[in-house]
Amino acid sequence: MNIQDLTKCPLCGAPETTVYAFCTDFAISKEQYLLLRCISCGAVFTVNAPSEDKMSGYDRINRRLKLGDSPEGLTDRLYYRVRALMLPKKAKIVESHAYRKEGSLLNYGAKTGFFSHHMERRGWKVTSVEKSHEERLFSLEMFHHRMIEVPEVDYLKPESFDVITLWHVFEHSANPTELLDRFHTLLRPNGILVIACPNIRSTDAMHYGPYWAAYDVPRHRWHFDPIALNRLASRHGYILMHHEKLPFDSFYISIMSERQMRSRAAFIRGVAFGFYSWLISLTHRGRSRSLVYIFRKRQKKRDDEKEEKN
Ligand SMILES: [Zn+2]
Repeated sequence: MNIQDLTKCPLCGAPETTVYAFCTDFAISKEQYLLLRCISCGAVFTVNAPSEDKMSGYDRINRRLKLGDSPEGLTDRLYYRVRALMLPKKAKIVESHAYRKEGSLLNYGAKTGFFSHHMERRGWKVTSVEKSHEERLFSLEMFHHRMIEVPEVDYLKPESFDVITLWHVFEHSANPTELLDRFHTLLRPNGILVIACPNIRSTDAMHYGPYWAAYDVPRHRWHFDPIALNRLASRHGYILMHHEKLPFDSFYISIMSERQMRSRAAFIRGVAFGFYSWLISLTHRGRSRSLVYIFRKRQKKRDDEKEEKN
């Protein structure tokens, strides 16, 4: 993204944007980034995020590559316990909305492959895409599951997947509109696209402002609320069927946000606010820290329909 992009929204092309926030990369570079919001579609984007080839210098090292199946200390043990609980929850989301217990699944941005492996064990035929060589290698050694690289997606057969999943990947994408179009081609008629991403209208985003850890600039290039993501997906041929929250979601980000604010007793304050945020999300799902969106492929995209009418 370069400076001329300040004049228009990269997603819908509308000419008017407004300043949304200034956020700091607390995790790696300590650089500050401007976030702009499109007046028209509501999407928020990170200005001057590094290009794909330079982003590796901003990526966190995945501790799971080092730890494998051997957690160290209380935090790791808790993380592993939560992950073990989350895998069947994610699988249930997929299976209940796909109306099937097995089928073909594309897991885009599969990281170390725990979800892919879990779905294979449940009977799904899984194709995993991962850009990191280390994570692909981990998956091969740990699960004997071979992942493909991003350019190999071009060679996948159109209309060959019942489900495509992106678990906290979409907000990192350099070109989300291109991805949505690619997935539309790859999905079978009535296939579903599952996108999990942070929610900038959540209770904790509002509370922590620019210190909210899920802005995670510049790794997160895009920042959505349910309305903006639905608008984007709708323009690219999808219907929003449902959105839901994941349990345990708000605690980690609240603790991280408190640490970024250099709060005293950050862990305790983070857990306390995480609990409050979780309580609110029980009755106000749209205020959850992140949401899982289930989109169904429309048979024809709106642009195609317009062309046919003309
Ligand atoms: Zn826009």
